[in-house]
Amino acid sequence: MLNDTLRHKGLRNKLVEELVSKGITDKSVLEAIRTVPRHLFMELSFDPKIAYMDNAVKIAREQTISRPFTVAFQTQLLEVSKKEKILEIGTGSGYQTAVLCHLKAEVYTIERQRQLFLSAKSLLHSLGYVAKSFFSDGYRGLTAFAPYDKILVTCGAPQVPDELIRQLKVGGSMVIPIGEQTQTMYKIIKKSETEIETLNFGDCKFVPMLEEKEINL
Ligand code: SAH
Repeated sequence: MLNDTLRHKGLRNKLVEELVSKGITDKSVLEAIRTVPRHLFMELSFDPKIAYMDNAVKIAREQTISRPFTVAFQTQLLEVSKKEKILEIGTGSGYQTAVLCHLKAEVYTIERQRQLFLSAKSLLHSLGYVAKSFFSDGYRGLTAFAPYDKILVTCGAPQVPDELIRQLKVGGSMVIPIGEQTQTMYKIIKKSETEIETLNFGDCKFVPMLEEKEINL
């Protein structure tokens, strides 16, 4: 049952305090974390306390739902405004997608694992989050709805995918962890059709962004 109780809300309030102590300052991001029921994006048998600790949690198909700090940090870096068109690569559980929807962005999200695509799509729908979910390879982006104001990559890419830069609006930005074993978080701003600015936000750890040849669906 999709149950969100006062106890869950209390755990979320504590989590928000923890994220503030770790340096998250964006009020709208903190409000989204305070509101979105993270425990419903993982196996319902888990103790809800686990859902509101600042840890990554395993979901299906050997994937993980990023730790709350990472979700908050990436979302803060993205500087989301209402109605912005955002492309997310790596829907996973759909939790990050729900956070973007809570910020009233127009969200497009791509996942390459069929099982995760299907379960996140149906969960987001039943919780009332309006996102457009796609089952495909994020390296290609989503040309049908490009260009995007922002792109958020939630898996570790070996290098910056050119196609994603192409699908960004001029003035738009992409938040992306780059690296093989461990990653560095970058914010890439598209200054003009030919020029990008790259800002480094330090080390992080993500599951890999897999290329199409490795897809095992
Ligand atoms: N945002 C997610 C994080 C999930 S982990 C959440 O909040 O739960 C990253 C996800 O990226 C995994 O589900 C993985 O299957 C997916 N992924 C990896 N490579 C991909 C690719 N090339 N295209 C789309 N999704 C990809």
